[in-house]
Amino acid sequence: MPEFSPQVLDALRQPLENGECVIARVNHRVSYPAAFQLVAAMNPCRCGMAGEPGHTCARGPRCAADYQARISGPLMDRIDIRIDVPAVSAMDLIGASATGETSATVARRVASAREAQRDRFAALGESPATVNARCSANLIEKLAEPDAAGLALLREAAEKMQFSARGYHRILKVARTIADLDGKANVGRVHIGEAIAYRISAAERIHTAA
Ligand SMILES: [Zn+2]
Repeated sequence: MPEFSPQVLDALRQPLENGECVIARVNHRVSYPAAFQLVAAMNPCRCGMAGEPGHTCARGPRCAADYQARISGPLMDRIDIRIDVPAVSAMDLIGASATGETSATVARRVASAREAQRDRFAALGESPATVNARCSANLIEKLAEPDAAGLALLREAAEKMQFSARGYHRILKVARTIADLDGKANVGRVHIGEAIAYRISAAERIHTAA
């Protein structure tokens, strides 16, 4: 992702926020539908090795800091799930056996979570085409109201990590979806905790702890 120019990356902000792309000229304003799911990847630094055990970047810590700074704060704030993926070595592959769930099993769980969302939005008179990600801020506050323990965790994290208002609502949306995947009617502490963990990358975790 950081290989694109910052202007190109920041052009993603509007469609990521409201699912449309607006082109405004002197006399005209045209809005195109642009609701999409962004899946992006990036290396930790330009040489691609920062954080690997035993590796020191030739440019030192600036290697990772400068590279990661190419993704602006406002763009990063619109990315709900951030996962650090350690490098896979040849040794990891030798003798490895697939023990995880199959894609078919996961697809079934996703389909039933989407169905639960469709039913919920239809029952509320909202467009059944809506998913949690596209739900309004007011509505998600109601639909993802956490239990007391979840609320306490959310308060604590919001204070420590200074989430934006957008970040707060996006955590609720992700938590609601995790609860849907879990087949739970209510959002609990475990769902809030997982949603918060996805929002912070390893780099930010280190930063927050320091
Ligand atoms: Zn590097």
